Parts: sequence; structure tokens; C-alpha cells
Amino acid sequence: MRAIRRFTVRTVLPPELASLGELVLNLRWSWHPETLDLFGEVDPAIWGRVGYDPVALLGAVEAARLRELAADRRFLRRLADAADDLREYMTAPRWYQTMSDAPKAIAYFSPEYGIAAALPQYSGGLGILAGDHLKAASDLGVPILAVGLLYRHGYFTQSLSPEGWQLEHYPSLDPGGLPLTLLREEDGTPVRIKISLPEHRTLHAQVWVLQVGRVPLLLLDSDVAENDNAARDVTDRLYGGGGDHRLLQELLLGVGGVRAIRAYCRATGHAEPEVFHTNEGHAGFLGLERIRELTEARLSFDEALEAVRAGTVFTTHTPVPAGIDRFPAEMIGRQFGGENAWPTVPVDRILALGAEEEPGKFNMAAMGMRLAQRVNGVSELHGAVSREMFQSLWPGFDTEEIPIGFITNGVHAPTWVGREIMELAGKELPTLVDRAQGWESIGKISDGDVWGIRGRLREKLVVAARARLRQSWINRGASPAELGWIDDALDPEVLTIGFARRVPSYKRLTLMLSDPDRLRALLLDPVRPVQIVIAGKAHPADEGGKKLIQQIVKFADSEDVRHRIVFLPDYDMALGQLLVQGCDVWMNNPLRPLEACGTSGMKAALNGGLNLSIRDGWWDEWYDGTNGWAIPTADGVADPDRRDELEAAALYDLIEHEVADRFYDRADGLPRRWLEMVRHTLNSLGPKVLAGRMLRDYVVDLYAPAAKSARALSGEGYEQARSFAAWKLKVGKAWPGVRVEHVEASGLGDSTPELGTSLELKATIALGELGPGDIRVQAAYGRVGDHDDLAAPSYADLTVESEGDDGRAVFAGTIPLDRTGPFGYTVRVVPDHPLVASTSELGLVAVPEEPVGMTNGTLR
Ligand SMILES: *Cc1c(COP(=O)(O)O)cnc(C)c1O
Repeated sequence: MRAIRRFTVRTVLPPELASLGELVLNLRWSWHPETLDLFGEVDPAIWGRVGYDPVALLGAVEAARLRELAADRRFLRRLADAADDLREYMTAPRWYQTMSDAPKAIAYFSPEYGIAAALPQYSGGLGILAGDHLKAASDLGVPILAVGLLYRHGYFTQSLSPEGWQLEHYPSLDPGGLPLTLLREEDGTPVRIKISLPEHRTLHAQVWVLQVGRVPLLLLDSDVAENDNAARDVTDRLYGGGGDHRLLQELLLGVGGVRAIRAYCRATGHAEPEVFHTNEGHAGFLGLERIRELTEARLSFDEALEAVRAGTVFTTHTPVPAGIDRFPAEMIGRQFGGENAWPTVPVDRILALGAEEEPGKFNMAAMGMRLAQRVNGVSELHGAVSREMFQSLWPGFDTEEIPIGFITNGVHAPTWVGREIMELAGKELPTLVDRAQGWESIGKISDGDVWGIRGRLREKLVVAARARLRQSWINRGASPAELGWIDDALDPEVLTIGFARRVPSYKRLTLMLSDPDRLRALLLDPVRPVQIVIAGKAHPADEGGKKLIQQIVKFADSEDVRHRIVFLPDYDMALGQLLVQGCDVWMNNPLRPLEACGTSGMKAALNGGLNLSIRDGWWDEWYDGTNGWAIPTADGVADPDRRDELEAAALYDLIEHEVADRFYDRADGLPRRWLEMVRHTLNSLGPKVLAGRMLRDYVVDLYAPAAKSARALSGEGYEQARSFAAWKLKVGKAWPGVRVEHVEASGLGDSTPELGTSLELKATIALGELGPGDIRVQAAYGRVGDHDDLAAPSYADLTVESEGDDGRAVFAGTIPLDRTGPFGYTVRVVPDHPLVASTSELGLVAVPEEPVGMTNGTLR
């Protein structure tokens, strides 16, 4: 029989144990092993059985045991210490508190969060990154206030059919069984968020607060009695359902999220955010809600747009055009137009924000970029790919000038680094107390100690993998009697390669199967064998991905290799931790450049694992020739099968001749050449891959400048927002009248110019309705190609020399002839104002109609 309703009865703790409740309700336990130890002591047997989930532990422990603990002086002392430690963690000044003028609060929006395995509210890298962002913010004292949705069925858990086909199960989560508290108004009534929908419907939601260290995470939940059935299901699953369902989720996240923040600040006195950061386009509607707030307070749409843009940061995460979130424009029109329109926000302005090349589509990334003055990708390469991908939003500008920067992702060390390594580091190196800094000094530990720990972590993985493998076979219908071989599956002494990730086609799960005989030979090498541990989930709607999983599983089922290659179902944070800690090598073979960053390899590196990867995402940036291996890419090869074949062959060669060779070279008992690479990995990558480094970059490069712009615009009743918006309108209207009429150069004689001399330029500019102060006149110069194109030019500002009364002005300046070879220059005009964040911000530029002044002489 199935229950019609499910809920969790919470344990009533004896008063002596009250602070145990406090500890459970703050997710800091998920990266604080000492607190987990304390939970373990509550009841070691139950602790293992509930999968190290503290809330489940408290739900399962007997009242008699709690009474016993309440009288146990030693336990109470430890509990008091742990509670003190948490209070100190929550209030002591950290790195952020040394900054002056930093934003008082930053709102962070993400559709998914990977915080702990016990909260399956993530599907992959985007969510894990968001979780690590919050944890690192907490450690550094960055005042983030985060927003997401509470999915009642989370993301699915994965198992396999007897044929190796992925099966999905959706756990039913009860908020009462999670470390959540309901957000209430000051008078105690639960906060209700309301969003009006077409046809006079209303979407209602309650708000749960999940405390992630110092960072509150507000989770909106539409499963409330006031909603009709369809509305109750809005937050049922992560990335489930079609366009309508997704639109409602994104409305709730963006519009509802801002309303939840306002309610939270009202109820708790928390500072209002000065900066809004949207992690990918799904939360983009937050900008519309903020425009609505400001237009209701009597700003015009354009003024509100400027005020909102100044304080908004947008991070794009996908270089795959199919990964961009788009809706039919008429669906957006229905939500924000007609009877359901917001009176102060015209629907055509909203539609224009999301317009893209294809008519009739509403593009969330395009809106994200138009609503944010600061935009970034998540690795250096991804920044470059994004500038190309979104170039059409800034017509007239070269790709290098598209205002999309990058901040390379990082990972939260205390979450991902094996306790064995943390503790050794902590003992040997007091500077690591902060754990976010000084990672490089771990390289001082002796070879013997490093190798000993690597061996223990590998063995732990092998033991856990066997248990998971056995369970998986039993779920697939095997009887325990046929599973004797599993006792010897995987070997704690054998070179272990890990491969775990979501299974979209660009990640090429099955590349390793390109030549099955070659793979078999590597696995079964009598002297230098390798073993491979694989995990990954395919999106439930992705039949292709499920086929790839089935191919891997079929191969791994073969009797001759099943002790050397295993597929472990249900890749989640717990399995991820086990894998990145226990594997010697972390393999990654995406189709370059489709991996925006990738973070699992960073986790492996922090544990002394070596990366073996295509030069994509972060690995393109930080591979230095000796901190791991780069699988050569066959970028130029157009035939995808041929490309796969070439890259797979290179992969096999590397494993055989480089990786296994080093691992098994034990001249004096230790693999010295291997350990040298491990040490170099820790030294070179350790400090870079930390989420703490990433957070500092966000604060310094994006949050603080965004707050500064937002303050400038909002001061004195939004005076600057008004004048900036008026200036943009004026410039937009007058721009067709702006022209580069004439350019003259002196210093170029009849002879070929020489290196080290310079050119004097004078440009006559028609200003139309604008003044010289509204524009910036620049000389662009440098090497020219065969078609007189300037590749990656340098720029020099020209200054106003004279202004006629005929609407013209002459600008002058000097450019250095600083390189030999074909050289050229031109002049361009862009709008200029103290509040623009980049030259290309308005997407306006004027260049001469005829190319001017290409000297095209060859410099000596
Ligand atoms: C780290 C992690 C990811 C993201 O890793 P990628 O390298 O970006 O694929 C996905 N899922 C889990 C469970 C992780 O721990």
C-alpha cells in the first residue's frame, strides 16, 4: 500500500542537547569533519545506515539514546565546543571584512545548488559550482544572500536495468526531513510569494531558508494549499517538463526570488543587496522584477534599466548554442502582456530585451547580457568563445572588444579534499588552518607520506566501489551466489583512472571504446595494467546519452575485463568525493571547445590526482606541460568519426607510454617520477583551482565595481540614472549624424617610415547633435593582413584640438610606429560617458566610409 501523504516527525531533543539541533540546521557540517564526527557519536550504527545524513540521524535515533547522551558529560563538552566553534565561525571578521566600500550584500541566483549529497537539488557542474560559490563566500565572509527553488523530487537517482539501460527514480523529499526553516513575517505568519499568471491565475510559493555557513539560501516552494494542482507542481523536478513548466520555474526563480529577498530582508533586518548576480540565464527575470520595482517608484523604463544594469552581474556557462535557454516570444508576450501586463513595464520593451537573430524567439542569455553591465564566462577559453558566440549583440565591434570577460571556476577544498590529505596538511602546515590559502605548501610533504596517503585513498575507493558494484548487480537481478568475482574486482595496487560526468554527447563518454581491443590490452596488461572507474547520469530525456551508458555498461559486463573496468550508478556528490580522492588519474575528453570550464579535474588535482585531458576549459589555461597530460585535439578534422578516432588513438598512446610508464617506474620502491608530477600539480594548480580564489576575483573584479556603479546611479533619488538614461537616448538618436570625415597623417614622408618614429594624426569628426564630450575618438593601429584588416589592433585616444561652429571638431594625437612589417591605422568614434563600463557598451561605433591611411608600407 502507498501512503497518500508523507511527512517527517522531528525528534524533540532534550534541552541539554539543544545545540545539536543548531549544528544540524547549519550546512557547515557538510564541509566540517569535526562536526560530522560528533554526529557519528550520537549513534555510530544509525549514522552509517542513514548515509551520514544528520537530519535522518536525528529522526532515527532512539529517545533512550538521547537521554543517555544528555547525561554524558564528555559528549556534552564536545557538543559545547562544536557549538562555540560554529558561533565563532558565523561572526568572526574574515577576509571580506578587511575591504572598504564593498557591497553590503550580494544576491546570488541559481536554478540548482549542490551543497551536500543529502540534498539532491543539483544535476551537475552548474549546481556544484553554485554550492561551492556559497561555501567559499561563507569562509571568506562575503555577504551573499542566495536564491533557488526547492524541488520536491530533486534530481533523479540512477540505477541500471539488467540490459544496462538507465532507470530513473525521483525521491520524494519532505521539507520536514531536511535542514530547512520556513521563512516567516515578523508576526510569525509564513511568508507568501505571489506571481500573477495569465487567465487570472496566481502562483503562490512559500520560502525555506537553508543556512550554508554564513550564507542564507532562500528556496521557493510552490507546493502550498493555495495553488491549483498545476501550480503546486511548478517546483516538482529539476529540469523536468516542457517550455511552459520551465517558464513558470524561471518566473518563480527570477521574479519570485527578488520578492523572497525583499521578504527576507524585511523579516530579519538583513541588508538589501546592492549587486545581483545571476548564475546562467535561468534566473534572468530578476532584472525585470527590479525594473518593475523602480518604475513603480516613478523612474521611466530606460532609467530603471540603467539602474538595474549597473548592479547586475551575469555569468554565462555554455558554449553550446543548443544549451542556451530560449522561449517562444509569444509565450513571454502572454505572461507579460495583455491583462497580465505590469502597468509600468511595456511588454514590447521586455520582448526587445530577449530578441535574437531568429524572429519569434526569446533568448534568456541575450536578455541576461542586456540586463547586466558586467558579463563573464567561466574560463579564459570560454570567455573567448562567448565573445564570438554573442558578437551579434554588439554589431560593429571586433570579437576582442565584446564586453564579456572571464573568471575561471574553482572548487571548495574542504568539500572535495580527502580528510587524510587535509589532516596531513593541517598537521604539517599551520598556514592551511584557513584551508583556503597556502595550498601550494602541501608540496613540502615527503614522497613516502604522499604515496602512503594516495594508496589509502585508492584502497578506500576500491572497497566502496565493490560495495556499490555488488548493490548494482543485485538491483539488476543477479543473485549473491553469482557475485563472488566482485570480491576481487578492482585492485588497490593498480593504476586507477576515473571518468565521471554528465553524459551529453560532447563529453564523449564512449571515446575510450573507440578501439575495444586496444582498451582491453591496456586493462589486461600483465605488467602495467590500468583500471577504470566510470560514473555519470544522462538527462532523462536524452535517449542518445542512455545508449552511450549502455555501451559502456555492456563492455564493463564482459567477463574478461569486468575486474578492471566498472560503471558505478548514481553519480552524485558522495560518489564524486570518493572518485576524485581515490583516482590516480582524472580523464576528460570533451569535444573542444564545448566544455566551458569543467571542475571535477580541479577536485582531483587538489587530492594529488593527475589530469589527463583534452585542452578545453580550465585545462587549456593551466596545463603547463608537466602538471598532467594533454590529449592532442584534432580540431581541424571535419569528419567527427575520424576526429574521434584520432583523439582516441592519442589517448591510448598516452596511457600506455606516458601514464602507466611513470606510475609503475619504481626503481627504489617509490614511483619518484610520478610523485614529482603530483607535487608539481599541487604546487602549480593548488592555489589557482580554489573557490576562494574565484570568490576573491568575483568580489574584486565584478561585485565591487558593480556596487560602485549602482551607488553612483541610485544616489540623490536616482539622479545619475536619469541623466545616464537620457544621455543614452540622446546618443542613440544622434548617432547617424556622427562621422569620421577626414583623417590626415604627418610624419610619413615619401620614404618608408622607420621603426621607433611616430605618426601625427588629425581627424575631422562630424558631431551631429552631440558635443565633443559625448564621444571618444580613437586611432586603431597595428599589423595589417592581406586585406588591410587590422588584427588585434592597439588603440590610442585622440584629443579635441579645435571645435568649429559647423558641428565639426578636429581631434589629434600620436601613434607610435612600434613594430616592423605591414602597418596600418584607422580612426573610429565611440560614445563616451563616465558611467559606461566598456567601449562597446552601447554597441555604437562610427568608422570612416573609405578605409583611411593604410600606409601598407613596410617598416624597416
Ligand atoms: C564536480 C562535479 C560535477 C562537475 O564536474 P565537470 O568536470 O564539470 O563535469 C558534476 N557532478 C558532480 C557530482 C560533481 O561532483
